[in-house]
Amino acid sequence: ETLLERIAETGAALNAFITVTEDEALAAADAADQLLAKNKGGLLTGVPLVHKDIFCTRGVRTTCGSRMLDNFVSPYDATVVERLAAAGVVSLGKTNMDEFAMGSSNETSYFGPVLNPWDHARSPGGSSGGSAAAVAARLIPAATGTDTGGSIRQPAALTGTIGLKPTYGRVSRYGMIAFASSLDQAGVITRSAADAAALLQVMAGFDERDSTSVDQPVPDYSATLDQSLQGLRIGIVRQHFDAGLDADNAQQVKAAIAVLEAGGATVKEVDLPNLDLSVPTYYVVAPAECSSNMSRFDGVRFGHRAENATDLLDLYCRSRGEGFGAEVQRRILTGTYVLSAGYYDAYYLQAQKVRQLIAEDFRKAFADVDVIAGPTSPAPAFPLGDKTDDPITMYLNDIYTIGANLAGLPAMSVPCGMVDGLPVGLHLVGPHFSEERLLNCAHRYA
Ligand code: GLN
Repeated sequence: ETLLERIAETGAALNAFITVTEDEALAAADAADQLLAKNKGGLLTGVPLVHKDIFCTRGVRTTCGSRMLDNFVSPYDATVVERLAAAGVVSLGKTNMDEFAMGSSNETSYFGPVLNPWDHARSPGGSSGGSAAAVAARLIPAATGTDTGGSIRQPAALTGTIGLKPTYGRVSRYGMIAFASSLDQAGVITRSAADAAALLQVMAGFDERDSTSVDQPVPDYSATLDQSLQGLRIGIVRQHFDAGLDADNAQQVKAAIAVLEAGGATVKEVDLPNLDLSVPTYYVVAPAECSSNMSRFDGVRFGHRAENATDLLDLYCRSRGEGFGAEVQRRILTGTYVLSAGYYDAYYLQAQKVRQLIAEDFRKAFADVDVIAGPTSPAPAFPLGDKTDDPITMYLNDIYTIGANLAGLPAMSVPCGMVDGLPVGLHLVGPHFSEERLLNCAHRYA
């Protein structure tokens, strides 16, 4: 009840929520109380949480931040939602996000931007901006998010929270509305590494309803949080600290890396020679997959339908023209272009090859080091409206995070200091299925 009150006040002021499920939450909390009274609860029984509005929730509106799904009530639960509910977690609602998770500032949402709790004139980052703002403003201890190019980690950095994007295939994508299927991964935003570990424990694991879900045992993520860092090899990438990074931000990140060294880790430089190509590669691959995924929204079976259509083509064009915002339309156009006959070889195929090179760079680096550490974003939270006219500057916000998605690697952002009263994040990337290691490092800070 206390959290629902806070959400009604502060949550509304920050525009962090699209839907608050008050009645369902109170009923679930009652059920949890009864279990706990009988001593039958588990670790997460009664723990309050909110879901990014990209996860399908049975009987509850699921908008994905879009007019296209403004009135869509999902007939089923996403696996992530189902597993957390089965573990006793109480969901209080659905958080605001960039439309279909396409954005880095939460300004592409049909429901308006989310405000950063540290400074209401600034963006909380995106696309999981509502989840990050809700956790940062202490409206909820934890929230789910999704990360295709940085959407969990960048908002975590800009709001001073922990963001965890697991290995591609570690957490089921079933019921998570698809943006770019080969990059999308579900994760969490929390206040501590221990909370992230407890939630990942429940979310991770094989799901036969997701063909890319990996059938591999789930380790006990909480058991290794306190493990010593003695002998841990940390890699730093020189280009990460080039001119593109804010100088004060760089200093905080370097100080944070020294914390790991003090714990017994050694630091050495590693090379990711194709790092510069990650943003352009992503902006071919992600729109290509987006254009294909977005084709299911045709105004016929579900979602927004234009009125008084004259024929089928008119229905498609007008429903999609009205239902999708400018950024989603830009991605569909780019994606359709790079996939079209005549351009496929020049752009899409080329991007897939570079993607392999980037993955190969990481593979080589991880022969020498266990974790790569660096900045999560080039600078602290930027003012709302600052980058909306210039998509390229907006896209460059994800320069440090996108590589992990292209290579399918697990990564985290950890709050590591403040610059001019705004939080900044330390970015940690590890080899596939090294979530235990990342959480172990993150536990040193929060
Ligand atoms: N900001 C990136 C984009 O706009 C990443 C978004 C995401 O991770 N969902 O595509």
